[in-house]
Amino acid sequence: MANDNNKITVTSPLLPDLDEFNALLKEIWDSKWITNNGQFHQRLEKELAEYLKVPYLSLFTNGTLPLITALQALRITGEVITTPYSFVATTHSLWWNGIKPVFVDIDPDTFNLDPAKIEAAITPKTTAIMPVHCYGRPCDINAIQEIADKYGLKVIYDAAHAFGVEINGESVLTAGDLSTLSFHATKVYNTVEGGAMVMHDAKTKERIDQLKNFGYVDETTVMAPGINSKMDEIRAAYGILNLRQVDKAIEARKKVAERYREALADIEGIKVFDDIQGVRNNYSYFPILVNAEKYGRSRNELYFDMQKEGVFGRRYFYPLISDFSTYKGLASSTKENLPNAYRITESVLCLPMHHALTEKDLERIISTIRK
Ligand SMILES: *Cc1c(COP(=O)(O)O)cnc(C)c1O
Repeated sequence: MANDNNKITVTSPLLPDLDEFNALLKEIWDSKWITNNGQFHQRLEKELAEYLKVPYLSLFTNGTLPLITALQALRITGEVITTPYSFVATTHSLWWNGIKPVFVDIDPDTFNLDPAKIEAAITPKTTAIMPVHCYGRPCDINAIQEIADKYGLKVIYDAAHAFGVEINGESVLTAGDLSTLSFHATKVYNTVEGGAMVMHDAKTKERIDQLKNFGYVDETTVMAPGINSKMDEIRAAYGILNLRQVDKAIEARKKVAERYREALADIEGIKVFDDIQGVRNNYSYFPILVNAEKYGRSRNELYFDMQKEGVFGRRYFYPLISDFSTYKGLASSTKENLPNAYRITESVLCLPMHHALTEKDLERIISTIRK
C-alpha cells in the first residue's frame, strides 16, 4: 500500500506564482476595491475574450450559476433536451429554473448528445437543447443548430470542459445562443472557483452583467430577480496570472496524453481516444474504456486496484445524472432510452491528467493498468 505522499491524484490545480500573486494583492489592498466590477475583473474579461477568441464574455463566481442564468436570460420554460452523461450541475440548472429535463442518448464515439436521436424527443413543450462538449470534445454543433432552427429552439452549451477548444481555428464557444465555462480548481484553467458566460452581442452581455448582480440596472432600478454571482478582485487577479501559464499547462497535458496513448494502445480491452482532426484539444481529461471480457478486469476492479497502488483515477461520469434520485423517475431516464450512456458509464475511467505529472508518475500509472 502506497503512503499518502505517494498518492497520484486525478487532477492538480494550476497555481499562480506566489510572489506575483502577492504583488497583485498589494494593488488590490492599495485600491481598496475588492469586488463589483473592479479593474482586475474588467481586465480578466478582456484578456479571456481575446484568448478564447470570443466577442463577449461575462465572468461568474462559478460554472453552475452561468448555466442557471443563461436559462433565465433566454426565458426557457417547459422541457429542455439534454445529456445524462455530464456533471450533475448541467441538469440541476434546469431544475433550478423549474424546467423538465428530457434525456437523450449519447454517441458512443464522442460521448456527446447524439443529434440523430434529438428530434424524436421534441414535444410541443420543448424550448431548448442543452448539450455538453464532454471532455472538451466538440459536439456536432452544425447538426444540433440545424435541428434547433427547424423547431425554433434555443441552444445553450455547457462548455465547462471546452476552455480554449477550437475547430479549424475558431472557438467552439461561439456555437449556439450561449455557452458557459467553469473555472473550478479541477479544470484546465482555474480561478479557484469561477466561471463565465460567452455571448454574441453587447446587449446580451449588459443584461447578463445585470442578472449576475441581483438584476440591478442602476442605483434605483432592478429589472429582474437576478442572482449574486460576481467574481471578486482577488480571484480575478489570480485568474489573470493563471491565464499567462495555461498554454504551458495544456502543452504538458498534451505530453501526458501522448505518453498514455503510446503505452496503452496495445492493451487488449482498453480503448483510448485520439485527437480529432482540426480540433485544438485542451487535454482536460483522459478517458479510457474498459472492456471487462477482453481486458480480464472490470472497470471497477481496475479503479480499486489502482487505488491500492495510490493511483486515483475517476469514474467520470458515473453514475449517470439520470440515475440520481431527483431525476430517476423521469420517463426519459430509462436504460432502454439511454443504452449508450448506460454502457459507457459502466466502462469509463478517467486517468490522472494534469500539468504536474512526472515521467515517474506516468510509469507507475501505466504499470497499474498493465498488471
Ligand atoms: C465543472 C462542471 C460544471 C460546474 O462548474 P462549477 O464551477 O463547479 O460550478 C458544470 N458542468 C460541467 C460539465 C462541469 O464539468
